[in-house]
Amino acid sequence: MSVRTLKQVIPSVPTSDGAGVKLRRSLGSQRGLYVDPFLMLDEFSTDNPDDYIAGFPAHPHRGFETVTYMLDGHLLHEDHLGNRGDLKSGGAQWMTAGRGIIHSEMPQQAEGRMRGFQLWVNLPASEKMKPAWYRDIEPHEIPTVTLADGGTARIIAGSIHVAGVQTDGVITDRSTDPRYLDVELPNGSLFHYGLPDDYNAFIYLYEGMLLVGAGEDARALKPQSGGVLSRGNRITVTADNGAARFLLLAGKPIEEPVVQYGPFVMNTREEVEQAVRDYQNGTLTK
Ligand code: FE
Repeated sequence: MSVRTLKQVIPSVPTSDGAGVKLRRSLGSQRGLYVDPFLMLDEFSTDNPDDYIAGFPAHPHRGFETVTYMLDGHLLHEDHLGNRGDLKSGGAQWMTAGRGIIHSEMPQQAEGRMRGFQLWVNLPASEKMKPAWYRDIEPHEIPTVTLADGGTARIIAGSIHVAGVQTDGVITDRSTDPRYLDVELPNGSLFHYGLPDDYNAFIYLYEGMLLVGAGEDARALKPQSGGVLSRGNRITVTADNGAARFLLLAGKPIEEPVVQYGPFVMNTREEVEQAVRDYQNGTLTK
């Protein structure tokens, strides 16, 4: 049994995207700051409508998947395929851009709190040009599991074993085998998660303090920071100094070159240039 340790801390940095939505970005905040297969992680959390009201008007994507998870608030997704999805507190949306999608994500509230996350998951070269796909995930569709040492985990992707019982999340059929858990631990509670040794893992702590690792190798992670974990077949974390809430993200690395230009993520510069031309010509999604 090898317990993963905290290898690198990626603090989230304030930035803005879309038509001026204020958010904090950890993964993807600098060129090359990826944890394969994850390209970007944004946290948006504000009570001020000026920070979110402009939303994300129509824009394209190619070559990867986006996962939006809402803690509070209401966004409306619309795309060129005709999908219309209401994203509400506790719900999620999984979108595979594949060869191309054009969508908008607009707030459906003029006041109140907007809080959630957007994660970008890369696709291997063999899947970058597959047809676009979209799924709305209602809050009640996300399984919530009570953990052995207290606390809960919501399973958006992948699965979890607690006391010999396996619970599958909503998305379990991707080649990168993504694990996306939203975990809440009471003070002092210990959480273990088994994982293949060669998968990459990342923890984004959005509330509280967390000790990552076991025994004398344990290191503290501060709130609104991402922690990149070492290899190993077990993740062990403890809520320290109060309750903690975090996202646990893990997956099978793709190990291919990543060339990103804004919303297009391909393997080569030529492919990215092609994506830009296709978007300009109106053939991105065709
Ligand atoms: Fe988008």
